[in-house]
Amino acid sequence: MDAGQHTNAIDIYVLPSNSQIQGGFVPSNNKKVMAIGGTKTVTHCSGGTTNYEIAQHRVVSHEMGHCFGLVHTWQYSGDDGLSDTPIDYVTNNGCVNPSTCQFVNNCGYSTCNVTSNPTSIMTNFMSYTVPTCMSVFTPMQIDLMRGSLNTSLLAVVSSSQAGPPNMQLMTYDSNQPVNTVNFVNSGWHNIYTNLNPSTLISNVTWSANTSYLYPTGTKLVNAGVVVNSGQSITVSITASNICGTANRNPTFVAYYGYSIYPNPVVGNSLSIKFDGSERIELLPQFISILDEITGQLELNVDVQNEKLNGNINQNILAINVAKIKGGIKLVKFSYKNLNSNDSDLKFTSTERIIIAK
Ligand SMILES: [Zn+2]
Repeated sequence: MDAGQHTNAIDIYVLPSNSQIQGGFVPSNNKKVMAIGGTKTVTHCSGGTTNYEIAQHRVVSHEMGHCFGLVHTWQYSGDDGLSDTPIDYVTNNGCVNPSTCQFVNNCGYSTCNVTSNPTSIMTNFMSYTVPTCMSVFTPMQIDLMRGSLNTSLLAVVSSSQAGPPNMQLMTYDSNQPVNTVNFVNSGWHNIYTNLNPSTLISNVTWSANTSYLYPTGTKLVNAGVVVNSGQSITVSITASNICGTANRNPTFVAYYGYSIYPNPVVGNSLSIKFDGSERIELLPQFISILDEITGQLELNVDVQNEKLNGNINQNILAINVAKIKGGIKLVKFSYKNLNSNDSDLKFTSTERIIIAK
């Protein structure tokens, strides 16, 4: 292919439906050019065939994936090194139901190379699924393509409007009230970096990781921060790329920790001792006791009301359980959402107790 006509673009050659090329093609030594064309005949598991004129389908998105550094989802024995793409044993289009896009096992095609029983919906652009099913790039694939755009394909996009990092793609993952917040990059590779968590407390600059490679294993967690019980922090996060800089300044609070005693409960009183109780907003809003087996709510305590009424003394709240029948119970703590910009954090925590009667 006579490639490389443009230094700042990807050249796409669209060939007719009767072309010798049947499918798409990106040379391994020059990922700034592609050819697509021809007609692909897919034999379906249920019998029958369908002709797909390649240029009329989303094969161009598949080939752009190659241009941006992606491999097939089946490339390495059904895997591609990315943990968020489905295992893909589709090496013959007949293994996918064209109406549901679901992988069909034991379809009888020896070329299916089926070694397990995946039930995935095969919609990934980088699969050899039926062309009409191709519709999805996963977050890791997108990360990887963005990595290519900032490295090997920088010249192609340097004049484009890629924009600064989108900080809204960063999410948090937290176990409340354990108070550890992990920052998870969910879409922009520039905030992948090895960061010493201790430096995250004050002010952080996340810089571009230009040596981006295929991530292995689970999705990378960029950094974590521990907020002590009863404290709050504001984290300043900056990410930059060639198009600019973006900031995000979320605030996190840590609710008071607690202990429950006695367990088993032998009398009529259950005690909850908090790490502190000075700041009413850092106490749970409610403590609910539910039967573990039936799930039925047996008692609901408005903790903040108890605090206002002076019923939390020396950080201890005593709950009368005289009316609760014996058995295994769940004690559920529910908190107000005081953390900014964050709908992902979990605001309940549940303990198991035995009421012995
Ligand atoms: Zn391909």
